[in-house]
Amino acid sequence: MRVAMFSAQDYERGLLNELNASHGHDLVYLDALLESETAPLAAGFPAVSVFVNDTVDRDVLRHLARGETKIVATRCTGFNHIDLEAAEEFGIEVVRVSNYSPNSVAEFAVGLLLALNRKIHRAYHRTRESDFRLDGLMGFDLVGRTVAVIGTGKIGTIFGRIMAGFGCTVIGFDVHRSPEFERIGGRYVDAEGVETADVISMHCPLTPETYHIVGRRTLARVKNGALLINTSRGGLVDTEAAIDALKSGRLGGMALDVYEQEAGLFYRDFSSTVISDDVLQRLISFPNVIVTGHQAFFTREALSTILGTTLESISEFESGRALTNRISHTRSNG
Ligand code: NAD
Repeated sequence: MRVAMFSAQDYERGLLNELNASHGHDLVYLDALLESETAPLAAGFPAVSVFVNDTVDRDVLRHLARGETKIVATRCTGFNHIDLEAAEEFGIEVVRVSNYSPNSVAEFAVGLLLALNRKIHRAYHRTRESDFRLDGLMGFDLVGRTVAVIGTGKIGTIFGRIMAGFGCTVIGFDVHRSPEFERIGGRYVDAEGVETADVISMHCPLTPETYHIVGRRTLARVKNGALLINTSRGGLVDTEAAIDALKSGRLGGMALDVYEQEAGLFYRDFSSTVISDDVLQRLISFPNVIVTGHQAFFTREALSTILGTTLESISEFESGRALTNRISHTRSNG
């Protein structure tokens, strides 16, 4: 099947070619983000594959339907960038990668927490300048601290399990209770309950209900000096409110792998350019903020499963088999 691979990264192409040997699809790699302006590039491709920052809204889907696209395969778990209702209306199937090493993201979230708390990012730069002082690098013991997990699904539960291993008290907020989360020692609290935590880590999807779930109100009530980790989706946190909370000292630090306005910025090199996003620039200027470019998934194991599953979904579609990873409009809040 002819597949237009939007936002194809260099690191994906070699592996995709290798994995495609057993599928035989005709893969065409495009650097471009999929959006209304670039959607005509997909004309004539029955399959289109996208990544986290591509826009697959009604307008784009209308273009795709006109160009005879029948399936959109997103190379990620989250599907907040896809208008499922419109896809259904235009008769376009949507598949995702519902399950790939959730450990990759959970482990990265723990890494961000450790770096943020113990200032490892600052120590790294200091020692490279032969500055071996410790002033400003003090953190706190994690043992005995309370860690809140917002979204106790696959990734949140693994993150909680690791933190329980550190000797932390793990609490969780979710609209669905997971026995697995309780089995690892997690205790459910209501939305306000997370405000008692020393560390809050985001692991729910971005939906209309979770947009800015950590907003000005929550940030005004978090424990003084609490650390916020977001490896899920930028829109879960009101970034401007977080900046104010960091300025007041209420928030002790923040580590973000995702950012509300990351589309068009992340996965690109702007090192020789002046970035016009003042909010991001302000964030980067804080000593107690770590920003990474949406890389929590990026392990050998996860990437291989992501790309393999994407190709398999397209093969399923081509041969008329049931789509294992189909997302339907009715699951749009899942
Ligand atoms: P999952 O579906 O297993 O878990 C998500 C959990 O969030 C579920 O338990 C669900 O009930 C809960 N949830 C849904 N709505 C909620 C609400 N309103 N309030 C509280 N909880 C709610 O998903 P997962 O595999 O654990 O992935 C979680 C998220 O991680 C994804 O949606 C994606 O946005 C993000 N992610 C990020 C990366 C990265 O590289 N940074 C990679 C993969 C996934």
